[in-house]
This record gives sequence, structure tokens and C-alpha cells, in this order.
Amino acid sequence: MKRIGVLTSGGDAPGMNAAIRAVVRKCIYHNVEIYGINNGYQGLIEGNIFKMDVGSVGDIIQRGGTMLYTARSEEFKTEEGRQKGIEQLNKFGIEGLIVIGGDGSFRGAQKLTEKGFPCIGVPGTIDNDISGTDFTIGFDTALNTIIEAIDKIRDTATSHERTYIVEVMGRDAGDLALWAGLADGAESILIPEKKDDLDEVIARLRRGVERGKRHSIIILAEGVGSAFDYSDQIKAATNLETRVTVLGHIQRGGSPTANDRVLASRLGAQAVELLLEGKEGRMVGIQKNQLVDHDINDILTQKHSIDEDMYKLSKELSI
Ligand code: ADP
Repeated sequence: MKRIGVLTSGGDAPGMNAAIRAVVRKCIYHNVEIYGINNGYQGLIEGNIFKMDVGSVGDIIQRGGTMLYTARSEEFKTEEGRQKGIEQLNKFGIEGLIVIGGDGSFRGAQKLTEKGFPCIGVPGTIDNDISGTDFTIGFDTALNTIIEAIDKIRDTATSHERTYIVEVMGRDAGDLALWAGLADGAESILIPEKKDDLDEVIARLRRGVERGKRHSIIILAEGVGSAFDYSDQIKAATNLETRVTVLGHIQRGGSPTANDRVLASRLGAQAVELLLEGKEGRMVGIQKNQLVDHDINDILTQKHSIDEDMYKLSKELSI
């Protein structure tokens, strides 16, 4: 393989730039030409493709977002759209593609591989919602952003004797809420994987008030429901003063943490190695701090699950 392409797709995540840098530098290390594709699969269809060199990825390791930009492409979900993409890859003489993104992006990569074009997936999403890897690129940074925000909210919560419901990202996966809850000592964590009983949340709040607690923090993953609805119900049941903070897109941006930069560098470089070994249709990941790779078909059929021990611990510690 003499020429590889790289793109980022789906939602951006801090550390994607570090992954792009690793892909580019590893290719150059192996004397393989590397082409960047702007705007994800949409840019691929449009031929928004350029040759990268060592300097192309200088001074980006510390930046959030993605220097290759990202886009959603409905056209790529069609057979014709993907055919156009393959024509562009052939036109540029690209023989293998590295896709940095989430499960939607991997579906695209899976379909290209099925059509005979070798792809490798690199998990980049803040939600940590992909099976076959303990961590995805961007999760650690988003988690630290959440913790910083909650630490600040806690100051106000204590000063004013308030109960805060903080809504974090996670439509299907509760990892951000669970980790943030444990790291922040939240009273309750509401995640899509567990249908937590509101009565239990309220009982825990009451116990806290009886012990003289001046504040409570409840972390809710967006997939569970509206933080405002929960706030109304808690207020009605307890008469506590409740407030809602929806952290929103602040969780996506920012300079990646050391953990994300290191993870992204390892995964990006490993994706190149796999393509050069002749592998295709695989996703690179990290499990028990070892680099692994799995069939993308398996990744897409298995559901990521939360760490049950951690969930149990969060309950035990927030009595
Ligand atoms: P993420 O990768 O973060 O999960 P999306 O689900 O939005 O983000 O997917 C990103 C892009 O991947 C989509 O805009 C589309 O171009 C491509 N994609 C998603 N699902 C498919 C599919 N079933 N077949 C082909 N391409 C897909």
C-alpha cells in the first residue's frame, strides 16, 4: 500500500487532531503517501482531498475539534454516493482509508470495505459509546470539562442551599454521567442503561437534608429525559429549591487532555500499521491498556455497556 487517506466524520471530539497527526506521521515514517479528506464522507464524494506532509499536522496536537473538519452526509448513505466516493479514492490513487469517528462513521467504513475498499476505524466520540474499546478519543477531555463545570456549580449550590440537576451528553450511553458522578461525588446519577427510580433519588435527597447537607448534585444523561421535568418533579416532592444546568456543546470542545492525546496517538498510528499489514474492516481500540482490533461488523452489532461495579460503587458512596 503506497497511498492512504484519512478523514474525520460525525461529531467532533477533542483528540481527533492528535489522531490525524499520528496517522500522517506514521505514514511518512513508513514512506507511504498520506492524503487528507476534508468534511468527512461529504468531502470524499466531492473530491475535497489534499496531500499532507509532516508540516500539515504541526501545532495541532493540543487543539480541539478537527483540522479536517467534519460533516454529516446523507448522500453517502446511498449506494450512488458511496460509488462516487470510491471513484474519488481511485482518482487520487488512494488504496486504504482511515475513518476517525463514531458508530455512524463506522457503518460507512463497513460499507466501503464490503465494496472492496479497505478501511480501518478509529473510535473518536466523547460519549464512550462504542464496544470493543475501553475508551474512545475525546471521552477523557469531555469528562474533565464536566467536572470543572460541576465544581463551579457546587460552590453556588452550597452557598444557596440548592439542588442542582446537571444534564450531560449521552443519548444512549451513561459513561460521561457515571464517571462524572463518581468523580464529583454526585448524590444521584441518572443514565439510560439504568431505569433509576425517582422515589429512590428523592429518598436519598431527603436523607441528605436530614443530615444537614446544604446542597445536592444530580447528574442526568440527556438520553434519560428532560432535566427540567426531573427538576419539577423533585421540587414538587421535596420542596427543595432546584435548578437545572444543561452543559450542552461546551462538553465537545477544548484542548484534549494528556490521556486523550496519548490514546489518539496510539490508535491513529496503529490504524496505519493494520492497513499496511493488509487488514481491513477493523476498528482499533484499547482494552486493559493494550492495543486491540476488532471486526467492525462485531463492533456495530455489540452494544457498549457500562461498568456495573462502578455503578454500584457510585451508589455505595452517595448514601
Ligand atoms: P458518528 O460517526 O459520530 O456516529 P453519524 O451517525 O452522524 O456520526 O455518522 C456520520 C456519517 O457517517 C453520516 O453523516 C453518514 O455520512 C455516514 N453514515 C452513517 N450511517 C451510515 C450508513 N448506514 N451507511 C453509510 N454511511 C453512513
